[in-house]
Amino acid sequence: MPAQQEHFIDCTGDGDVAAKAGADFTIGDGKGIVQPVSLFFRIGDVNTSELRAWMKKNRQLLKDNPTDKEIDSQKGIAFLGLNELVKEEIAKGNLDSEIANRILMYELPHHQFAMNVTRLQKISGVNAKELTKAEIRLRKQVVEVYRFMKKHVGGFENSYIVETGARVGVRESRHIIGDYILDEGDILEGKSFEDGISCGTYAIDIHPGQGKMQIYTGSGKMVYEIPYRSLIPTKFDNMLVAGRCISANQMAAGSIRVMATCMAMGQGAGTAAAMAAESDGLTRNVDTKMLREMLILQGQYLLNSDLEETIDPTLILDREKSDGSKGSHYNPFNK
Ligand SMILES: Cc1cc2nc3c(=O)[nH]c(=O)nc-3n(C[C@H](O)[C@H](O)[C@H](O)COP(=O)(O)OP(=O)(O)OC[C@H]3O[C@@H](n4cnc5c(N)ncnc54)[C@H](O)[C@@H]3O)c2cc1C
Repeated sequence: MPAQQEHFIDCTGDGDVAAKAGADFTIGDGKGIVQPVSLFFRIGDVNTSELRAWMKKNRQLLKDNPTDKEIDSQKGIAFLGLNELVKEEIAKGNLDSEIANRILMYELPHHQFAMNVTRLQKISGVNAKELTKAEIRLRKQVVEVYRFMKKHVGGFENSYIVETGARVGVRESRHIIGDYILDEGDILEGKSFEDGISCGTYAIDIHPGQGKMQIYTGSGKMVYEIPYRSLIPTKFDNMLVAGRCISANQMAAGSIRVMATCMAMGQGAGTAAAMAAESDGLTRNVDTKMLREMLILQGQYLLNSDLEETIDPTLILDREKSDGSKGSHYNPFNK
């Protein structure tokens, strides 16, 4: 008999539902220091041939001093650098002192670039007044950065601001306390869990909440699992959280927060909630072996498990595990 209990999956990013219902949480590093907020924006009509030529002439201003070949072989230009110029323009008062200490931008289709440069520290993503303050200041930063690009970088002469994010982007706010708190050890060891419901592979990437030092660690080979228990707030058996607010310390949250990882958690949470609703309604009683089986059959990428023996072996591909040994994963695209 399906249970009558109501279920909630909190995917608000900030853990709003869980917090309002009384779940325990920490903010940022546990002392309230959170990653800075930023307002993404796009610049259009950039002349990419001129930009590439400019990059070749000014390679020493870019990270890792790229060669002509490296610049030409980039299908879409990923641009990181200009630290000294940024510093000078901050000193002259032409750029906000809180702005990131480098220009980071990525090429998009139609000669547009996504700009990841604006920044403001010590803003609570769950405080409307602070968010409003950030919104106003970051919009000013957008114009400053755009002027900076036109002044210093080739290819931007006839460009224009296409759009900004609809609202200020919050990298970090609440971390809901769940039955398991994911930490950096789990990430760096590429840990798998008996109740793993999804994987992450991104580095630990923590933009500085104070000062200028960004933490960026971990190799691209790292793959780890997120346990179902990190989605269950400790005080509740009818609520799951998914996304950047799951139960993780700040270091681990610095990795799990990226979009693909958050989406995969949502798949895990939704499937678990459906299973709970079909049984006694209690999220904590979900059979995690069956949950993993369901997820694998849906095409969810999970780390090596004995469950794979029960599914079609032609759907299993070899892959290298984080420790260098060979493992396997289920490839839904092989169907
Ligand atoms: C500036 C910036 C740059 C980033 N760059 C990258 C990047 O390059 N690559 C990458 O993968 N990740 C990047 N991230 C991280 C990533 O975008 C987020 O961490 C991720 O989107 C979080 O996913 P989520 O599902 O937890 O929350 P969100 O994507 O924020 O989704 C939460 C949704 O819930 C809605 N919501 C919130 N509160 C309520 C409420 N009370 N009622 C109803 N609806 C509500 C929101 O409107 C939103 O649609 C960046 C983040 C920022 C801020």
